[in-house]
Amino acid sequence: MTGKFDLVPLNDWGFFHLPPRPCVIAGPCSAESEAQVMETAEGLKKFGINVYRAGIWKPRTHPGSFEGVGTEGLKWLREVKNRYGMRTCTEVAGEKHVFECIKYGIDMVWLGARTTANPFLVQEIAEALRDTDIPVLVKNPVNPDLDLWIGAFERLHAQGIRKLGAIHRGVSTSQKIKYRNAPEWNMVVELRARHPEIPVFADPSHMAGKRDYLQELSQMAMDLGLEGLMVESHCDPSCALSDAAQQLKPSELQNMLESLVIRDAATADEAFNDTLRELRAQIDVLDENLLFTLASRMKVSRQIGTLKKANNIAIVQPGRWDAVLEKVASSAAGYGLDPEFAKKLWNLIHEASVAQQN
Ligand code: PEP
Ligand code: MN
Repeated sequence: MTGKFDLVPLNDWGFFHLPPRPCVIAGPCSAESEAQVMETAEGLKKFGINVYRAGIWKPRTHPGSFEGVGTEGLKWLREVKNRYGMRTCTEVAGEKHVFECIKYGIDMVWLGARTTANPFLVQEIAEALRDTDIPVLVKNPVNPDLDLWIGAFERLHAQGIRKLGAIHRGVSTSQKIKYRNAPEWNMVVELRARHPEIPVFADPSHMAGKRDYLQELSQMAMDLGLEGLMVESHCDPSCALSDAAQQLKPSELQNMLESLVIRDAATADEAFNDTLRELRAQIDVLDENLLFTLASRMKVSRQIGTLKKANNIAIVQPGRWDAVLEKVASSAAGYGLDPEFAKKLWNLIHEASVAQQN
């Protein structure tokens, strides 16, 4: 499918309210016990988190690692909803998970990075969710394949699912980098360009792998204009059964979120918008002038080329070009421009002129 998906706007899901950014989903990597699930939820609710995550079935690299508590944990999530009025969400990796989530009133589900990479599973999940109103978030696949990610949205959309969002969690890499997964922000930029209607959450936790990097990655997500964050939070990360190094206590998450600087892409402030419009109009006129001047310059340089050819003279005379560059650099300085910048620009112009004289 090309073009836009027909989606229900994020603010109409009954989960989030924009502005302000970010819309936050928080909670432990895994639901481990009823006490851990409730204590974490209480800590998050205290500072206004309304959407709670917890993994019930965990996709672990090695068998024998903690693979989640299974259906029992869905009861705890139901209790979070009843006691704190929070919306709940968990990862589904097949139709059985979907049916269990429906049975226990889970409000939203997400597809994990390994699941998005498997079209058979995505199709199965999409069909199981057909005729429900459950919002679905889709993590990017573990490999940097934008089409595979978009393909998952297509499968879900084809089953009538209209509440869709993306979660960017970075991609696997064989390079030695400081993060657990390579952020690969260009994937999000490209997704935004192709499907601006899909709201995007960043998952700094799985990108970072370590608490220390959560702030910088979350700030980057905000600077890129993403709508939300999904962050792992545990009442006592030191005893977490999965992803212990990347989880924050609820109070630490609160501090991290408060440290973010949110710059908005647009504002309703009329005076600001008017001034911005005027300045942009001036830029447009100046750009036209620049283009006209460049085109005029090229025309003269073509005349010089013809003249040189007729007189059997080489195209480039180094001495002449050095003199031009010197003059340009000193004039640029006089106008308050960086002479080095001017030289770089004129070298590009020169290259194009010489190509025209061939
Ligand atoms: C998770 O969110 O707990 C998880 C397993 O993430 P991912 O699918 O991004 O690895
Ligand atoms: Mn995790």
